[in-house]
Amino acid sequence: MSRTAYVNGRYCDLRDACVNVEDRGYQFADGVYEVCEVRGARLVDFPRHMVRLQRSLRELQIDEPMPITALAIIMREVVRRNRVTYGIVYLQVTRGVARRDHAFPPSSVKPSVVVTARALDYEKKQQTAATGIKVITLAENRWPRVDIKSVSLLPNVLAKQEAREKGAYEAWYVDSDGFVTEGASSNAWIVTKDGRAVTRSVDRGILAGITRAVLVEVMGAVQIRLEERPFTPAEAREAAEAFVTSASQIVMPVVAIDGQVVGNGQPGGITRQLREEFHRFSAFS
Ligand code: PLP
Repeated sequence: MSRTAYVNGRYCDLRDACVNVEDRGYQFADGVYEVCEVRGARLVDFPRHMVRLQRSLRELQIDEPMPITALAIIMREVVRRNRVTYGIVYLQVTRGVARRDHAFPPSSVKPSVVVTARALDYEKKQQTAATGIKVITLAENRWPRVDIKSVSLLPNVLAKQEAREKGAYEAWYVDSDGFVTEGASSNAWIVTKDGRAVTRSVDRGILAGITRAVLVEVMGAVQIRLEERPFTPAEAREAAEAFVTSASQIVMPVVAIDGQVVGNGQPGGITRQLREEFHRFSAFS
């Protein structure tokens, strides 16, 4: 089945979906994005993703390309046309097309909008969650504005590649004080031996993950204690459990950090519980 994308007002075959070579996303990574999980052909926690999108746009002074209600229609339509029941939908907004010049173009230049959707293999994802993933740690080398969900992801690309080359799936950044910030495409968590979930606070050099925010609510409801504070790789290696959160992974157990097994090397009980409970607390639209 051919795949369909939305590009600047048109639905087209993914193979023909093109942006202008002078699009500032292409030239400068001057744009932002969102990824929503798709479940049962519906968008998971869409309103929260849109609030974060609006914030990212504001921080970079990129105009909102259209009302959120219109974006919702397009994103649902791309999901529908690609017959995605389980997977992800990707939205990218850039500052638009203009002659290459670093400073902002005139306000007459309109933002570019691209939407794609992709089915994921649910069973395969569940199998990965049943065994857990490995992570490596590396020095934080990103710009300080990681709170903006910018398409400028080169350090993240290099970190993921290093993880892959070392037989791991995710890379956790470690700041200059020796604390884990977050993963290259996820938020980082541990569970202490006495059952407290620990993750860094959102005002300290991380992206405010939507999955993270929903999970905080899940924890309140199922009475798992939460500590928002930084932790070191050493504390993580000695923790009872570890996991990452993101829209595409939801709650994914971490079973090894830098080659050292976490807990008994199996996904932890609290991690599994949180993964199972998660969608009871998410909004579907
Ligand atoms: N941190 C980074 C750097 C990410 O790229 C992502 C997701 O892509 C996350 C955290 C998790 O955010 P969310 O739960 O909204 O997907």
